Amino acid sequence: MTKKGYYGKWGGAFIPEILHETFNELNKVFEEVKADPQFWEDYFDLMSTYSCRPTPLTHAENLSKHFGGCQMYIKREDLNHTGAHKANNVMGQGLLVKRMGKSRVIAETGAGQHGVATATMAAKFGFECTIYMGEEDVQRQRPNVFWMEKLGATVIPVTTGARTLKDAINEAFRDWVSSMDTTHYVMGTVCGPHPFPEMVAWFQSIIGQETRGQILSRFEKLPAKVYACVGGGSNAMGIFQGFLADSGVELVGVEAGGLGLDSGQHAARLAGKDGSQGVAQGYKTMFLQDNDGQMLDTHSVAAGLDYIGVSPILTDLWEKGKIRFEAATDEEVLDALDLTMKKEGIIPALESAHAFVQAFKDAGKLSADQAVIINMSGRGDKDIFTIAHAYDDPSWKKFIMKKGKAYAAEK
Ligand SMILES: *Cc1c(COP(=O)(O)O)cnc(C)c1O
Repeated sequence: MTKKGYYGKWGGAFIPEILHETFNELNKVFEEVKADPQFWEDYFDLMSTYSCRPTPLTHAENLSKHFGGCQMYIKREDLNHTGAHKANNVMGQGLLVKRMGKSRVIAETGAGQHGVATATMAAKFGFECTIYMGEEDVQRQRPNVFWMEKLGATVIPVTTGARTLKDAINEAFRDWVSSMDTTHYVMGTVCGPHPFPEMVAWFQSIIGQETRGQILSRFEKLPAKVYACVGGGSNAMGIFQGFLADSGVELVGVEAGGLGLDSGQHAARLAGKDGSQGVAQGYKTMFLQDNDGQMLDTHSVAAGLDYIGVSPILTDLWEKGKIRFEAATDEEVLDALDLTMKKEGIIPALESAHAFVQAFKDAGKLSADQAVIINMSGRGDKDIFTIAHAYDDPSWKKFIMKKGKAYAAEK
């Protein structure tokens, strides 16, 4: 029998004693809402009036022709409010916070995307909002910090340790320990202590539910393969849940291969050979760590995939052979992004483009009466600073320098 919150030997809830009470409360309210069909209806209503659910499933006809194999379909999570699937999770947790009668939310963020999504939710629900972010990341991610502050959140730069995500997580937990009566910690992905992996997966399952119905009505049979990029694993869990019971559908998770799996500069916890089991940040999974259990520095062109851990649910499914894991390098990602823009007029986020890479590699081996689905977790146009930098575009550089000079000349 599996213990609550464990997926095989992965997961669990490694939390300080003082947080037990607030986790019990969270578990209780989560069990309640799962059993209450009205809650899911309210959630869907919110997502269809404030975000863009159901998001479309687009037939990528030009890419299908280009690769001459299967029919490619793209699930358009980019069309969500704030431009990515993260809206599904934060808005769902917002409804939970309301139900618990709490008035404040906190979150930690690395690249800032989860911070912007959380600040958006807090503004909509009227919650107070504090976002913890490593000082290093605050410097690097100014556009996201700008929006968090404009949306009314307080951004606290964390100056301890390496001043990045890890340190922000510690500070956010410190806050929670002293504020749990009024405050909910908004977990950004299907990681962390139980019940967060299950809860975030549940909110994100809306992607898979919709996609399954859409492909059956449009293509009249199930797809051969479904692709998703994997950072913490929430968009992947979201779409995979629609097809987990279908043995004929291959599920493919694509991690950040960075500069290559042999370079030590990547974030492939499952696809490569560098991951090893460990317990950190409240749960057990495969981490990128050294022999002493110190977390390693990861690298990816896509900030949202640049993370040391991965969902315990995905690790379990990987171990059982239910999901194939691959990695895409930064270079492959930029090529796939370029082709998708030119062929379909669609701009995937750098994260999402990882899934496109593997779908393109496999396409030729399939036939025209087979379909594949790529989960496009987010849109790239909002990340123009990151993407223009990744392409090392000379005119963009000139433009930024000119802006800088103009600002410097202002009094
Ligand atoms: C945050 C983010 C991801 C990575 O998170 P998951 O939990 O693995 O889904 C992927 N794509 C986009 C666009 C993101 O913003």
